[in-house]
Amino acid sequence: MKSRGMLIVFSGPAGTGKGTVCKEFLKRNPDSVLSVSATTRLPRPGETDGKEYFFVSRVEFEETIKKDGFLEYACFCDNYYGTPKKAVDEKLENGFNVILEIEVQGAMQIKEKVPEAVFVFISPPSKKVLRERIEGRGTETPEVINKRMTLAENELKQIVNYDYLIVNDEVEKAVKSFEDIVNAERLKTSRNLNFIQEVCK
Ligand code: ADP
Ligand code: 5GP
Repeated sequence: MKSRGMLIVFSGPAGTGKGTVCKEFLKRNPDSVLSVSATTRLPRPGETDGKEYFFVSRVEFEETIKKDGFLEYACFCDNYYGTPKKAVDEKLENGFNVILEIEVQGAMQIKEKVPEAVFVFISPPSKKVLRERIEGRGTETPEVINKRMTLAENELKQIVNYDYLIVNDEVEKAVKSFEDIVNAERLKTSRNLNFIQEVCK
C-alpha cells in the first residue's frame, strides 16, 4: 500500500515567483502535484478554467463555503480564494505530495487543521525586487500593484510562522532548496513509522 503523501503549504507575496518555482519543481518531481484553487478573481490573459484556477462566481464560492467544501479559504485583494477539500484528500490518499500555493491567512487555517503539513515561505530578495517583478509580469494595474505591495509587507511579517524560508534570487537555486526541504521532510522519523515498526519486529 502506498503511504499517504505530504501536504506542503507554499506561501509568499504575490509576484515573488511561487508559480515559477513551483512549475519547475513539479516538472522534476512527478510524485508531487499542485492543488487547483477556486477563485472569484477574473482570469488573466492566458489563464484557463480548471488549470490555473477554477474561476467561479461569488455565489458559487459562498455555496461551497456553506457545504464545507474548502480545506481553507480567504479573501485577498477583494476576491475569494479557496482550496477544494475533496480533490486534495484524494491525491494525498493516492500517495502524491500536494502543494498548496496559498496566501498567509489560508496557511494559518491549515496549521490549525493539519499540523503535520510542511510550511514553506518564499520571499523576494527585497521589496524593491518584488515591485519590479510584479510590474515586469504586466498583469496588474498600478492601483492593484500598490494594493498588493501593502499586502506583501504584512505577509513578510508572517515568515516566522513557517518552517522553512527560501529567498528567490535565482529560480534554479530556489527550486533546489524546495527539493532539499521536501527530501528532508520525507526522511523524518515521524513520517516513517511503518518502516520503523517493521524493522524493529
Ligand atoms: P507568483 O506566482 O508568486 O505570483 P510568478 O511566478 O508569477 O509569481 O513570478 C512573478 C514574475 O517574476 C514573473 O514575471 C516571473 O517570470 C518573475 N520571476 C520569478 N522568479 C524570478 C527570479 N528568481 N528572478 C527573476 N525573475 C523572476
Ligand atoms: P493571484 O491572484 O496572484 O493568482 O493570487 C493571489 C494570492 O492568493 C496569492 O498569494 C496566491 O498564493 C493566493 N491563493 C491562491 N489560491 C489560494 C487558495 O486557495 N487559498 C488561499 N488562502 N490563497 C490562495
